[in-house]
Parts: sequence; C-alpha cells; structure tokens
Amino acid sequence: MNAEIIAVGSEMLTAGRLDTNSLFITEHLNSLGIEVSAKHVIGDDCDRLVTSIRRALADADIVILSGGLGPTEDDLTRDAVAQALGCSMSADAGILAAIERRFRIMKREMPEINKRQAMILDGAEILPNDRGTAPGQWRTVVSGAGQKVVLMLPGPPSELKAMFTRECLPRLAKIAPPTAIHTVVLRVTGVSESHLDQTIAPIYMGRANLTTTILAHEGDLQVRLRAQCDTIEAAIALSEEVAALAAEAIGEHVYSRDGESLESLIGKRLMDAGQTLVVAESATGGGLAERITSVPGSSAYFVGGYVTYSRRMKTELLGVPETLLAQFGAVSKETAQAMAEGAKTAAHADWAISITGNAGPSTDGDKAPVGTVYIGVAGPDGIEVTHRVWPVNDRGRVRAFAVQAALDLLNRRLRVG
Ligand code: AMP
Ligand code: MG
Repeated sequence: MNAEIIAVGSEMLTAGRLDTNSLFITEHLNSLGIEVSAKHVIGDDCDRLVTSIRRALADADIVILSGGLGPTEDDLTRDAVAQALGCSMSADAGILAAIERRFRIMKREMPEINKRQAMILDGAEILPNDRGTAPGQWRTVVSGAGQKVVLMLPGPPSELKAMFTRECLPRLAKIAPPTAIHTVVLRVTGVSESHLDQTIAPIYMGRANLTTTILAHEGDLQVRLRAQCDTIEAAIALSEEVAALAAEAIGEHVYSRDGESLESLIGKRLMDAGQTLVVAESATGGGLAERITSVPGSSAYFVGGYVTYSRRMKTELLGVPETLLAQFGAVSKETAQAMAEGAKTAAHADWAISITGNAGPSTDGDKAPVGTVYIGVAGPDGIEVTHRVWPVNDRGRVRAFAVQAALDLLNRRLRVG
C-alpha cells in the first residue's frame, strides 16, 4: 500500500519555509508499513492543485493533503479536492456552530469568510480539530482499482500532528495490510560512503522485502536495513541475516550494531576500565569536548578539555616547548604529540586526545594545506599521532571530520585494550 503527500502553500515555494508536515506523516505511515511513493509541494493555485490531486490518485492508494484549509481566498484545498473528485460540498451545521463558539469564547464576531471552513465534501468523514477552526476530512473514493482515500489536514504543524495521531492513525491501521517491520542500524566510521556501499551492495541488492539506506554525516555512517514482512519473526530474521553479512564484510569499521553513538560507546568502555579522559583542542575549538559531554553521566570519566588556540596557550597550559612550535609549526605531528602528552600529564588522566590542524579557508602561517589535521591519542600503552587531510574546503566539515576521526581513533584503542 502506498501514499502520496501533497503539501499545499505558496510559502513553501519560497526560500524561507520548508514542508515539515510530510516528514511527520511519513514516519507514521512507515510504521504502519505504508510506503510514501511521492510527495509534492504545490502553491496556492487551484488548477495546479486539481492536476496534482488527480495524478496522485492515479498512482497511490492514499493521498494526503496538508494546508490550505484556512478561511481566506488562498485556501483552496477543499475546492480543489471537490473539483478533482467531481463531488459537491455543503456546509455542516455542527462544524459551523463549533467555529462560531470558538469566536464567542474569544469575544469576537465570526467573520463571514470563516463559514468556508464548515464546507464538507459530500460523503466525507469529519476529523475534529481541537486546536484550531478547520476540521480535517477523510473521503473514501471508489475507483476501478478499488478503494482509495483522500485525506485533508490543516497546515499548522501542531494541529496536523494532533489530528493525524488521534483521528487518522487508527483509521489507517484498519486499512493497512497486516505487516511487520524490523530495522537494524549498523554504525560505521573510518571508511568513505562510496567504499562502504561498494562493499555491501552485493549483499543487500535484490533482496525482496528489504529497504537499505546509507546515511552519511561527516565521517559517521549509518547503514539502515529495514525489513517489512508478514510476521515480526520473518522481519527480524531477514534484517538480522543481512546485517550479519554486511557487518562481516565491513569488518572493524562497524562500531555499533544497535544504533549506539561513538561517544556513548567510548564512555561505557572508559567506565568499564575505570579510566579517565582529557582533550586538548586547537582547530576544533571545543567540538570534541562537546561531543563527549553530550553523553549523560560523562563526568564519571571525562575530566575536562583545553582549548589552546594560540601558541602561547599551548605552551603555558600544555607545556608544548616554544622551540618545538617554532621548528615544526603548530600544525604538525610533533605539536599534536606534545599537546596530548602535556594534557595527559597536567590533568592526571589515563587517556588524552589532541587535535591540531588547519580548517581553512586560508592556509595559516604554518603553511599546512587546508584540511590538514593531526590527532594524537595518548594512553596507558603509549602515544600515536595520526595525520589526515580532508580536501573539502569547508571549515565546518573539516572540524566535524576531525572530531569524528578523533573519537574513532580512541574507540579503536579502547577496543583493543
Ligand atoms: P494553511 O493551513 O495553509 O493556512 O497553513 C497555515 C500555516 O501552517 C502556514 O503558514 C505554515 O506556517 C504552516 N504550514 C502549512 N503547511 C505546512 C507544511 N507542510 N509543513 C510545515 N508547516 C506548514
Ligand atoms: Mg496556506
């Protein structure tokens, strides 16, 4: 069973507004096993809306419209659906009374134009709106291909969410085919998205009842394996089987199989070992400490962080020798090593991570190319410095990649130990 969503409103065709209602609707449809096969944003134009509704009805079992149910001239959804289906509308006395009552409570007179909100398609079920004036409507359409549904929902997200949850989900659950969904999320880092897909595509391609998506966010990758079957046992078996094969092929780059984040996993490992961590950051300006402290309870193992942006602070707080900085530059293997060792000693921690690099956009006095980063990880078993270059020419992304790589390097060390 598939659905199409039509977000109605000219404001969403400007640069300022996004259609977010469809994201909410999609998530809930998917949980019922209903796939969203297309979505559209259409301005407040009756002819275009009619065309779009007719096209959607030809392709989908369920057509959901959001917005355009207000009282003004540009609220055209009711008229467009009536025209597309070739059915008439009439004012509903109960809805009209409810709208009049809302205005009375607010001690205002109801403008004449609000009567339009009481217009209901003949044959439609009314979906009450407890947060606004416009009711939603559920209209079943009988066609050659069987029964289809057209749903009209108000645009304001709070009204739509309340109405969709309370009125639509129970009705949709009755018409959705029996289905069970199970999703396994593999979290992966240390490989590129294209390399990852090349490795696992032969495993997931062509599998019936399985949808695979790869999400990439600055070096942090998620492989989402979503199985949709008749029974939950079958869905679990399929997704777990493919996940196991994919994880084996990806190898050591998989860091979690239950969706757990890298920073949370590191926290557990440090707590299990009864060890502490300190960070010394230059290029990332506190971004690493931010990720680490986003985990509740991180005070149990994270002692703190140094943001040593200037050479003077590197020397004064971390004891990086001035002569070393002068000889090798702030962005160098030697500086990263001295920063990590200095932080570990000063903070009396078991582990220390240092980051120094050039995030751009211009090369600094050290002449390190933009995107160059050195990451030091000092632990009970010694120190390692890793040199990485991200040629993305984007300050924010270089910094995010560096933080991700630093967490990955520490996690690999902790995993071994
Ligand atoms: P309408 O029902 O068309 O009068 O929409 C009322 C308000 O709801 C708009 O001004 C938007 O702020 C918001 N809205 C409408 N459609 C959407 C949508 N698809 N996603 C998010 N907000 C929306
Ligand atoms: Mg509108």
